[in-house]
Amino acid sequence: MLKQMENAGLTDLHFGLDPASGMKAIIAIHSTARGAAIGGCRFIHYAREQEAITDALRLARGMSYKAALAGLPHGGGKAVMIEPEGDYDRTALMQAFGRFVDQLGGRYITAMDSGTEVSDMDIIETATRYVSCTSASGDPSPHTALGVFEGIRAAVLHRLERDSLAGLVISIQGLGHVGHALAAMLHEAGAKLIVADIDSARVQTCINQFGARAVAADEIYDVEADVFSPCGLGAILNAETIPRLKCSIVAGSANNQLAVDEDGNRLRARGILYAPDYVINAGGLIHVALHHAGVDGDRRDAKIREIGDTLTHLFTEAKRSNQSVHHVADLHAEALLKAAASDDSAQECRHA
Ligand code: NAD
Repeated sequence: MLKQMENAGLTDLHFGLDPASGMKAIIAIHSTARGAAIGGCRFIHYAREQEAITDALRLARGMSYKAALAGLPHGGGKAVMIEPEGDYDRTALMQAFGRFVDQLGGRYITAMDSGTEVSDMDIIETATRYVSCTSASGDPSPHTALGVFEGIRAAVLHRLERDSLAGLVISIQGLGHVGHALAAMLHEAGAKLIVADIDSARVQTCINQFGARAVAADEIYDVEADVFSPCGLGAILNAETIPRLKCSIVAGSANNQLAVDEDGNRLRARGILYAPDYVINAGGLIHVALHHAGVDGDRRDAKIREIGDTLTHLFTEAKRSNQSVHHVADLHAEALLKAAASDDSAQECRHA
């Protein structure tokens, strides 16, 4: 277990058990060097406890990278609550999880993830103040869409040397909470949309509202577009799909878009500019983290818009150093975490 933690770069791993409600949860903390670790809580079935632990270990580091490149005063963490077999009292489980989070005294701030809802965060809030994504902060998706929109603008300026989206063709995969809000912004900016979703009602809405052209779900990789924006599933950039792409830029909200790290290099080899997912999709995290900290809406939006500047910096650095953008992003995040950790140890030395 300690070896697994070491490989995942974690500082601490916490196990919570509440026999009365059946709550079994794991909180993995990757870093608190920049501030309290923040990250979602999954609530799903796991065939084996080890799989739940592995999930938490695997996802915590990504949250540190995301928070660091978003310029937030937070480290990364991830929680996993094992959904019990059979009947259970969801409210009692969430309350127990809230008490577990509270015991960590603010080292970890929880948030929504697969299987948890805003209403769960509201229940957790009855037991701890270290929770975001409550109904007071609202749906983060439009804020994620704003960050993706700014990221697309930055990528278009860098790769196509155009400061307007008017007349550009943008294909969107997935028209859910983020994809639909993004489509609205792109339409407003004058882009022509090509869309795909396995949900035909969502596709029809985009045709009606934005005059979008629809293609079958699997054909979205083959259409000619300036920008391809994946806003549905993960791992969709892989050895099979990348050779099919006919776009200059890939920039969308989906998490874990690269099936394997090498796919970032495959995109670069094809001359396609890739906006790393955890950088471009940080708008929702910025919104909930700053809302939790009491920052007002205008300042939150201004911070989200900085995603465009961050990407411009990464694109420029990748070009200068002849490296893939996703690699430059990882290096940059690691440098920020290392700098914060050495600041912390310097302070500890001064206080000793
Ligand atoms: P969502 O579930 O509301 O929407 C996803 C959409 O993708 C759905 O309409 C679904 O039908 C569609 N889809 C599923 N399989 C598809 C396929 N094979 N082809 C085309 N479409 C398909 O999710 P969301 O909240 O809009 O998030 C979209 C992505 O962005 C996810 O990967 C999510 O993890 C990521 N993300 C979301 C947020 C946020 O604030 N919601 C923040 C960061 C990252």
